Amino acid sequence: MTMHNVWESIVAFYEPTIEIMSLWAFGLPLFVTVIAVMFIFSQKWQGPLTLRALINAAFPREQYDHASSRVDRWNGIILLMLGFPLVGVIAINGIAIADNAGAYLNAEFGAQEPVITTSWLMVSVQFLVYFLSVDFVGYWVHRWCHTHALLWHLHKPHHTAETLTPWTLFRQHPIEFFGLNIIPAIFGGAFTGVVLYATGSQIHPGMVAAVTTTAYIAFFVIDVFSHVHMPISYGWLNRIILAPVMHNLHHSMEPHHWDKNNAVILTLWDWMFGTLYLPKQGETWRWGCNDEEYGANNPHKTLKGFYIDPFKTFWRHLKEGESPNP
Ligand SMILES: [Zn+2]
Ligand SMILES: [Zn+2]
Repeated sequence: MTMHNVWESIVAFYEPTIEIMSLWAFGLPLFVTVIAVMFIFSQKWQGPLTLRALINAAFPREQYDHASSRVDRWNGIILLMLGFPLVGVIAINGIAIADNAGAYLNAEFGAQEPVITTSWLMVSVQFLVYFLSVDFVGYWVHRWCHTHALLWHLHKPHHTAETLTPWTLFRQHPIEFFGLNIIPAIFGGAFTGVVLYATGSQIHPGMVAAVTTTAYIAFFVIDVFSHVHMPISYGWLNRIILAPVMHNLHHSMEPHHWDKNNAVILTLWDWMFGTLYLPKQGETWRWGCNDEEYGANNPHKTLKGFYIDPFKTFWRHLKEGESPNP
């Protein structure tokens, strides 16, 4: 392999990440503006309305200049550099999994007569089946991370966050990031493959475009916003789609909030399976894991603790059967 080839493969590896980062260049100013405007509407604004005041409101120093936030930021940068290309490729390959699963079933059992003949209906059905099944599996994987003691060791680092900023979205232990994020794409893709076979159809290019567009919107509007420090509510839509306030509460350290609002995109699953918690008017909470592991006692207050501690507790649990505090 020549130096040129090595360089080419490095560039190819980072291409999807660079593309997403360049989307940030457009998304970020929009994001800042929307947060600032939402803040003005959600609060009774006091004092002069200057640009500086708005920036302070959207990015308060106590949130961003906090040990917890520094861990989020460094881990986020490391994951974006190392892990994002890999996970991105696998997540997008959910559609390829669907395609292959459909082709496999066709070869094994013989092709079925096509039941959907119009393009728009085919795109709608394929998109809905894929989107709903991936999000459904995502909800259950997240829920099990809270209820199964061993999985909790891997997900707990996300919940030792004591501040919320968009960086907190990337506050995931590498094992969780690599190991669990691909599960929804695998199962959602396989299920979509079964539907493709049963309806005698193949992946429609329009479906790929719809999934890609939705993934982009979901990333900015749902994922990034769900880690904003402001409890922004979507009103009655909170029962259907994840509003910032709903995931904000998922990060609460108050015991009666534990294991609630496990949605990735649709809170509809929380509503259906009894884990929905609509915050009451004026209800407040602190962010973190529990009272014992807070502040100076937070096991993940440094990047080293954040990376090493889950391995230690996981291993101790396997050896001694010790149950953690979910
Ligand atoms: Zn969680
Ligand atoms: Zn979160």
